[in-house]
Amino acid sequence: MKHASIKADNTLDIKPLIAFAGESFEVCLEKELPSNLMGNNPYKFMGPAKLDATARYNEGSVEIKGNIIVPIKYVCSKCGAPFEENLFIDINEKIVENDDDEHFMLLGDLVDFNEIISQIVALNIPTMALCRKNCKGICPVCGKNRNEEDCSCQLNIGATSPFSYLKDKIK
Ligand SMILES: [Zn+2]
Ligand SMILES: [Zn+2]
Repeated sequence: MKHASIKADNTLDIKPLIAFAGESFEVCLEKELPSNLMGNNPYKFMGPAKLDATARYNEGSVEIKGNIIVPIKYVCSKCGAPFEENLFIDINEKIVENDDDEHFMLLGDLVDFNEIISQIVALNIPTMALCRKNCKGICPVCGKNRNEEDCSCQLNIGATSPFSYLKDKIK
């Protein structure tokens, strides 16, 4: 496969792609992401986003297919423990000449991967993150991390305790 030459500013000149319209070019690049892409999420990028894809010019637009991988330090939504995991995003984008509100746009003869990668990553950052599939979370009674230590607290205390009746009475 032909190799697309990406400029130092993460843009791709599409003239060689137009010259070989319909052929796929390999695109590999890394981009450091600004921390404000995280929005309100308490997570951190632990390295650059890596794009591994192919680019193909076809009838006035450029198709980009492949994936983006970003290492992220998450905070578990249940127990609050930090953990690192790669965010893997499949991409299949069409970069078009004229703005249509649905696709990324060519900048003249250039594909700007800065914009594309930043927007796609921002859209794909999960709002929930679990440190493990069956995270047991924090005990609401004693505050212990129940993945690390079992406690003997009665969990659904509000519903089953004989005192819940009294609590309501006292109010
Ligand atoms: Zn957890
Ligand atoms: Zn407990």
